[in-house]
Amino acid sequence: MINDLKKKTTLKGMTLDELNNYFVSIGEPAFRGGQVFNWIYNHLVTDFSDMKNLPKPLRTKLSEDTIIQTLAYVDSEISASTGTKKFILETHDLNKIESVIIPEENRTTLCISTQVGCPLDCKFCATGLMGYKKNLSAGEIFDQYMIAALNYGKENLTNIVYMGMGEPLLNYAATLNSLKIFGDELTTGISLKKITLSTAGIAPKIKELADSGLKVKLALSLHSCFEDTRSKIMPINIKYPLKQNIDAIKYYVKKTNTRITFEYVMLKDINDRQDDINAITRLCSEIPSKVNVIPFNSLKHMNPVGFSALLEPTPKHRIEDFVSKLRNRNITVNVRYTQGDDIAAACGQLAVKFN
Ligand code: SAH
Repeated sequence: MINDLKKKTTLKGMTLDELNNYFVSIGEPAFRGGQVFNWIYNHLVTDFSDMKNLPKPLRTKLSEDTIIQTLAYVDSEISASTGTKKFILETHDLNKIESVIIPEENRTTLCISTQVGCPLDCKFCATGLMGYKKNLSAGEIFDQYMIAALNYGKENLTNIVYMGMGEPLLNYAATLNSLKIFGDELTTGISLKKITLSTAGIAPKIKELADSGLKVKLALSLHSCFEDTRSKIMPINIKYPLKQNIDAIKYYVKKTNTRITFEYVMLKDINDRQDDINAITRLCSEIPSKVNVIPFNSLKHMNPVGFSALLEPTPKHRIEDFVSKLRNRNITVNVRYTQGDDIAAACGQLAVKFN
């Protein structure tokens, strides 16, 4: 089956331009690309026989030469306390990934993965602990949306966040294609204004994204304003120091005219001191931004070793104090209270055991 798939062209993941080119390359008019784009991404069709405006011989040819669906549904779990729903999905090459639906009062957010595992090794993150396996294709990124939409109702999903497993900017080409697909008005009905890409900070790629013209919302996993502390908890900071990322983010803001979200996981005695409040205040005075404070979700279920095993959550009363001090300095702060930790679907808890 895998050999068969290798010979076939995967249509899902192709942008409108790529589909147009594909149809021209097989001797068909370019407009067939638009028709198929609409069937695959808007109507979420997986069978060529449903593509009623394509001539029958073309449908037969497509079903012989190409495939649409890239992921299979394996299982899902729902959190009894919050309604958060986690999906376990499988790629054709039998890698498992996770995506999560997070219902809130005014919106329902789908959190998607861009890699199987993650190469970054952030010390507070379960996905980092499991290591890196491979990049997902744009089709595999889209299919997480498709499976969620079919399961939960397309009209019920209002936001998408690239905050699942993996670092989207280390899988740049597929991430960009998936954004082009999501951002097309024909598809999800979710505009790029409601899509947030979260990165640990790959400075050159932030600039490239700014130049792409796609005005997706950007979140930086900040976690500390101090280079030495940040390098300790996020080793990627050694390669791309915060200063470089801040420059890239200023460029992003200028190009896209958007506001940045700084994510900040509260780690006891590591990034929750008065010095941190002062540094965040300085940073936010330079960049149109808001801060999402995230209580640290335990990794105990992963049996961490080394530095990861020492990490503890900042106690709730200290988080409240930290947040109110920032707010007193006119900084917009949201506290993202944990959703779905009873099913290991909260931030930084996504990790599927490799086969
Ligand atoms: N690689 C990207 C996206 C994935 S992580 C990034 O680093 O931004 C999505 C968010 O969850 C990040 O802000 C990440 O720092 C946060 N996170 C990771 N582990 C966590 C944990 N154990 N508790 C709370 N938040 C965590």
